[in-house]
Amino acid sequence: MPTYKVAIVGAGPAGYFTAQAFQKAQRNNLLFLIDMIERLPTPLGLVRSGVAPDHPKIKTVSKVFEKIAKEPNFRLFANVELGKDVSVKDLRDQYDVVILATGASKGRKLGIPGEELKNSISAAELVPWYNAHPDFVNVEVDLSSDTAVVIGVGNVAMDVARILAIDPTELDQTDVAEHALAKLKQSNIRTVIMCGRRSPEDAAFTSPELRDLSKLENTDVFIDLKQIEEAIKHIEEKDEVEKDLRSKVEAIKAIAGQKKKGVARKLEIKFLSTPIEIKGNGKVEEIVFQKNKVESGKVVASNETFSIKTGIVITAIGYDSVEYPGATIESGRISNIAGHVEHNVYVVGWAKRGPTGVIGTNKSDSADVVDLIIENLKVPKASEGITALLKSGHEIIDQTAWEKINASEVISGEIAGKPRVKEVNWKRIISLGRT
Ligand code: NAP
Repeated sequence: MPTYKVAIVGAGPAGYFTAQAFQKAQRNNLLFLIDMIERLPTPLGLVRSGVAPDHPKIKTVSKVFEKIAKEPNFRLFANVELGKDVSVKDLRDQYDVVILATGASKGRKLGIPGEELKNSISAAELVPWYNAHPDFVNVEVDLSSDTAVVIGVGNVAMDVARILAIDPTELDQTDVAEHALAKLKQSNIRTVIMCGRRSPEDAAFTSPELRDLSKLENTDVFIDLKQIEEAIKHIEEKDEVEKDLRSKVEAIKAIAGQKKKGVARKLEIKFLSTPIEIKGNGKVEEIVFQKNKVESGKVVASNETFSIKTGIVITAIGYDSVEYPGATIESGRISNIAGHVEHNVYVVGWAKRGPTGVIGTNKSDSADVVDLIIENLKVPKASEGITALLKSGHEIIDQTAWEKINASEVISGEIAGKPRVKEVNWKRIISLGRT
């Protein structure tokens, strides 16, 4: 019976949905052995280190991934790094199919003066910091200023702004990193200002994420009603208006018009503001913006500027993929045609299409790539797979070890009244897998 060896690099949503598509495609005369390779000692990718701690519902997708992992043709090899422990070339030789599901972890830069100042931080660092990613425990985050500025109005910016603006006691019963919760409890930040360069109707955040703001118990949300009225005029001028766009602008208006609670914590969303310089003496002290306006449906710069005094700037303007020998980057993504990179190497998820879409987007996207892979299959290789590649003594975290780590975190969580307490120390994570 033809059995093909498949290596999926990256244990995030795109990787799991790819494994699932292979599992669904299996037939009597077409079998797959799936090895999922992951750099970290824990799987789940952005479900563990990207999804905001106060969004536990989104994380329930991990149950689907655990089911995929329980199938007999699936093996997890976590704590194995592409580019260090194994190379794309090694995998290409040992497997019939190699799929890079390595995501996009590099935060995009604004490219403006002052961006390198202390406390000018990318969401690509802050998000894994508050989500207990072992590589980001020591990110220096200074929350002593009363105002924080978040650049970007996408869903990541929304997550970051919300986490900085909410009363941290609202995070007590979440799996937020303990080091981050301690810091947030001492935070002086009372005003968080999210800034978008275009008009409200162009905001990248989605309506459910925006509507979530109304659930904040200890934070008032401010959006300039005049900018929203203008946005409504812009969309009324269009011949056809998509349902989602109308719903988004309605949600913005509803949030802006909500009765204020008169609390100290404020989250403001400002539009038509392009950051042009971050100022400060060794550390962020102020950020300067150029005001924009809409002319004939286009956003253009005005000659007015304004500035905000702040001690911290978080940039949440998208991500790029990192490069590996054997995978070149083009416009922030691994170069590919419909998911095909070269030979038997393919790419899925953010590494394929760029940082767009929600977790579920990866399901159909991965399934399409798997269809293409199956069309291109040749005769299965007589090779050994990953065992031929790893040095003797290399400690892997397999599914059983991960289940031990998971159980230990969940038990610690039960004691603390949280879904889990995440272990952040790489060595301790590995030792939890041994117990
Ligand atoms: P995004 O949705 O692409 O938003 C990026 C934001 O940055 C946009 O507002 C963009 O403005 C702005 N931006 C880009 N370059 C800029 C520059 N040079 N100066 C100022 N602003 C700039 O990206 P994201 O927020 O990183 O999210 C990535 C994906 O993950 C999205 O598909 C998102 O929906 C998803 N996600 C979903 C959830 C959820 O479902 N809860 C949570 C987090 C992330 P322009 O539009 O003007 O370019």
